[in-house]
Amino acid sequence: MSTLQNADSEVWKALQHEQQRQVEGLELIASENYTSAAIQEAAGTVLTNKYAEGYPGRRYYGGCEFVDDIETLARDRVCELFGAEHANVQPHAGSQANMAVYFSKLKPGDTILAMNLAHGGHLTHGMHLNFSGQLYNIIPYGVREDDNLIDFDQVAALAKEHKPKMIVAGASAYPREIDHPKFAQIAKENNALLFVDMAHYAGLVAGGVHNNPVEVADFVSSTSHKTLRGPRSGFVLCKKEHQKDLDKTVFPGLQGGPLMHIVAAKAVCFKEALQPSFKEYAKQTVANAKTLAEVLMGGGIRLASGGTDNHLMLCDMTAIGLTGKIGEESLDRAGITVNKNMIPFDQRKPLDPSGVRIGTAALTTRGMKEDEMKKVGAWILQVLKSADDEAAIDAVRKEIAEFAKAFPVPGIE
Ligand code: PLP
Repeated sequence: MSTLQNADSEVWKALQHEQQRQVEGLELIASENYTSAAIQEAAGTVLTNKYAEGYPGRRYYGGCEFVDDIETLARDRVCELFGAEHANVQPHAGSQANMAVYFSKLKPGDTILAMNLAHGGHLTHGMHLNFSGQLYNIIPYGVREDDNLIDFDQVAALAKEHKPKMIVAGASAYPREIDHPKFAQIAKENNALLFVDMAHYAGLVAGGVHNNPVEVADFVSSTSHKTLRGPRSGFVLCKKEHQKDLDKTVFPGLQGGPLMHIVAAKAVCFKEALQPSFKEYAKQTVANAKTLAEVLMGGGIRLASGGTDNHLMLCDMTAIGLTGKIGEESLDRAGITVNKNMIPFDQRKPLDPSGVRIGTAALTTRGMKEDEMKKVGAWILQVLKSADDEAAIDAVRKEIAEFAKAFPVPGIE
């Protein structure tokens, strides 16, 4: 019997079920991934016991000599990975990382130009209920209706008209490579700071598959748990000139003690992402997404922008007579996990939108390649086309559980 099982059988039991779900199902949520056993080990250590307010060499607690080493390793590695001048690895998550960037440079009421949530932006890019939407004057830009690509004419025109203090690039549901230099040019012409939130595609940047926003942006934030395949957390990169503002905003501005076990897990993640094999992983993630996109489009599903060049795709369920909610629920019953999502110019509401978002980062970590994507695509189509046929869905679920056995989940025996 494990120590956890002995101490808390209820939590242990739920954990067993979750492990089984992760092993038997197909994880296609675009913002999720599987961490390595080494990252899980680092995250589950006695480092969780340690208070370390401050920064390496300047702490407010004793006994920080070893956590100093860990935070320094994390900072140095992430700077090397992305070619950054400075890194703050303490934000607990992506939202805190974004808050740190805004609070470093903006005052309440300042104007931000950011991607519309309904077109693929994130909550922290100005959604009205989020702190960003509450505190700042948000001017949203979006994608074009005809090809669903970012409308740079609109971005340029809005920047000229509103003179934002900051322009935010980056998205949660945009299936194409983002042209960071173009954003940088618009920011420069309008004397705005450029902030790129690369949370979704950080792994593709690290793997050299997408262009690197660090080369052109004042600030770059990210989560570490999506395509970058690290623990659930965040970090911010910036130019040297912004280092002081950023660091004092994160601590003592926004947070107390950093989660040192997670900082350690981030250090391991950055080391893994520096290995040549991570480049292969990033390339394969995109190749898998392209293959899956072809299969789904071949089956009559319309994809926003007509395909993908990153790890995700936005599928319009209305083209096959379903909604996003029905799509998500039907696939879930078959052991295929996705999330319902608005598509650009959606006529439906966020809780029952027209689309589902599908991503390949996690299945690629399990070792799946193009051939497996063809099978996965066929299952998705089969389920969606028999969404009210429980027997058919159950049969697919069984096939998937058998198939998935051949692709181990890291850290699960
Ligand atoms: N930024 C983007 C673009 C995201 O997609 C997300 C999460 O989905 C975040 C920030 C926030 O990350 P977290 O959920 O860790 O706060």
